[in-house]
Amino acid sequence: MAAGWQQIYRAGNSLEAHTLKGLLEHAGLAVRLTGENLGSAAGELPADVLQVTVWVSEQDADKARQLLAGYEKGNQGHWRCASCGEENEGQFDWCWQCGTDKPETNV
Ligand SMILES: [Zn+2]
Repeated sequence: MAAGWQQIYRAGNSLEAHTLKGLLEHAGLAVRLTGENLGSAAGELPADVLQVTVWVSEQDADKARQLLAGYEKGNQGHWRCASCGEENEGQFDWCWQCGTDKPETNV
């Protein structure tokens, strides 16, 4: 990995890594993933094939850690997208699949 990047998270699987990548990119951060099996499409990997590490640029590392802290703390309370039916993590304010805003209802 080139200088200027920091590993901020070790995801258990590719799907989680991509979820986090979407979270961070939505917040305007540049994100890289390593360790991924690039030959497979996201979501088709067996859950435990290999670990994927999430990297951000050094100047974004603090912000990324805050976002990830929120991710880990809010890792319950899933909600289902009204548009595409995707299950989303409770801390997301939009559907990671199609971008629809989270319903206003407090569950
Ligand atoms: Zn959706």
